[in-house]
Amino acid sequence: MFKDFFTNAALLIASFSLMGQIFKNKPLNLKSPFSTKLNWGLSFGILGNILMLFGIQINTNIIADLRHIAIVIAAAFGGFIPALITSLLIAIGRIVFFGFNQASLLPSFGALLTGLLCGGISKLKYHPKTKAFVMNLIGLLIISIIFIIRIDDLNILKDVLLVHYTFSFIGGFIAYHFLEFVAKSNTVQRELQISVIKLKETEERFRLIAEYSSDMITMHNENGEFIYISPAVKEIIKFEYPELLGKNFDEFIHPDDLGQTHELFNKALNEGVAQATYRYRSKLGDYVWIESTLKSVHFQEDGSKQRVIIVSRNITDRKLTEQKLHEANELLNRLSFMDGLTGIANRRFFDQTLENEWSKSISMKSPITLLMFDIDYFKKYNDTYGHLSGDFCLQSIAQAIQQLFPSDSGYSFCRYGGEEFALILPSTVEEKAKKMAQRIQEIVHSLRIPHSSSEIENIVTISIGTATMVPNSSSRPHALIEKADSALYLSKTKGRNTVSSVH
Ligand code: GH3
Ligand code: MG
Ligand code: MG
Repeated sequence: MFKDFFTNAALLIASFSLMGQIFKNKPLNLKSPFSTKLNWGLSFGILGNILMLFGIQINTNIIADLRHIAIVIAAAFGGFIPALITSLLIAIGRIVFFGFNQASLLPSFGALLTGLLCGGISKLKYHPKTKAFVMNLIGLLIISIIFIIRIDDLNILKDVLLVHYTFSFIGGFIAYHFLEFVAKSNTVQRELQISVIKLKETEERFRLIAEYSSDMITMHNENGEFIYISPAVKEIIKFEYPELLGKNFDEFIHPDDLGQTHELFNKALNEGVAQATYRYRSKLGDYVWIESTLKSVHFQEDGSKQRVIIVSRNITDRKLTEQKLHEANELLNRLSFMDGLTGIANRRFFDQTLENEWSKSISMKSPITLLMFDIDYFKKYNDTYGHLSGDFCLQSIAQAIQQLFPSDSGYSFCRYGGEEFALILPSTVEEKAKKMAQRIQEIVHSLRIPHSSSEIENIVTISIGTATMVPNSSSRPHALIEKADSALYLSKTKGRNTVSSVH
C-alpha cells in the first residue's frame, strides 16, 4: 500500500511538471482567462483519473489514491472553475471506468462535493497556503467518511486512513510547492524572453538610427582607429566600410587641420566631448568640409574600454556659401571706398586714410604732405564737349595719376569731389612734394586732352596746392586740408596750371 501511494505521489508531481511545460505561457491563477482555467481544469481532471487508475484497490468498492489533491491544487491556484471541472471529470471517470453502481456513485459525489467546497474556499481572503491546507483537509475528511462507510475491517480502515493522511499531507505539500516553483520559473522564463525581445528591439532601433542617419557616425578606439562606420560614410566621403576599418582617421584629415583635430580628439578623451570643423579627404581625393561632435564613452562595467563616437556632417555647401559671402563682403567693402566714376579711392577713403596717417605721423613725429589739385576751367570743358566727355576726361586724368602711385607705394590718391583730387604723402617733406606735384602736372600735360575753351592752353591743365605739416596731438588733419586748399586757391589766383605751397 505504501509503495502504491508513493507511485501516486510521483505521478502527481511528474504530471505537474508536464502541465507546467505544456501551459508555459498560460499560467494558472485566480485572474486567468476562462480558456486557461478550462485547459488546466481538464488537465487536472485527466490527472485525477490517472491517479484513480493507478490507485490501490482495497476491496471491490474502495480505491485509495491522491485524486483529491488534483482538485485541491486546481482550486488553490485557479479557483472555482478549474476545481469544478476537475471534480466533474473525476466524478465522470469514476463511473466510466468502474461502472454505474452504488460503489462508484458515492466517490463521484465525494469528488464533486470536494470540488464545490474547495472552489468555495478559494474565494476566501486567506493566505493561499492556508486555503490549500484547509482544502486538503476537507478532501481527506470526505474520503474518510467514504472509507468509514465502505470499509468494515477496522484494521484495514486504520491502515488506509493512516497511509492516506500521511501521503495526502506530504503529497499535497510537495505538489503545492512544486507547482508554485514551476509557475515561478515559467514566469521568470517569460520575463527573460520579454527582456531579450526588448533588448533586440532596442538594439535594432539603434542600429536603424545609425544606419539610416544621413550624418556619418563612426566609433574609434583611443588611438583613433575606426571600429564602427555607419553607411552614410559612403555618401559623404565615398569610402566603403572595409576600406576604413582599422585605419586611423588621422590619415584622412587635411594636413592644415590635423593639429586641431588631434587636440580635439584628446579633449574628447579627457573631457568627454569636443566639437571640430575640418576637412576630410574623400576617396575621390578632394576635401570635404566636416563638422563633428566627438564624445567619449566607456564600455564594460569597470569602464576600462574607452571609445570615441564621432557624429559628422558634410558642411561643404555651407562653407562654400560662407566663402562667397566673405568675398562679397570684401568686394562690398572695397566698393564702399571706391569712386564709381574714376575707379580710384573716394572721399570716404580719403577721410579715413588721412586720420590714420595723421596719427602715425604724430607718433613718428614725421612730416605729412597733402596735395590737392583741380582741373582748370572744367566748367567750360563741360560746356564745350558735353558732360559725358567731362566724365571721360576725369577718368583719364585719374587713371594716369593712379599709375604713378601703385597701392604698395604708401601714397593715397583719391577723388576729393567734383573735378578735385587729393594725394596724401606720408613721411614726405615739402621739397619732395613739390617735385611730385610737377610730375603730376607733366603727366596731365602729356595726356594732351583738347580744351579749346581753356584760357591757358588748348589742352587740359591742372592747378595744384601743397601743404606739409609735422602734426602734434593738438592739431587736427582738417588744418592740413585747409592749408592745401589755400595753396590750391593761390595757384588759381596766380593764373592756374601751377603749383603753390602754404606754410
Ligand atoms: P576753375 O579753373 O576755377 O577751377 O574753374 P572750373 O570751371 O573748373 O570750376 P568750377 O567750380 O566753376 O566748375 C567745376 C565744374 O566741374 C562744374 C561741374 O559741372 C564740373 N563737374 C564736377 N563734377 C563733375 C563730374 O563728375 N563730371 C563732369 N562731367 N563734370 C563735373
Ligand atoms: Mg573745382
Ligand atoms: Mg576747376
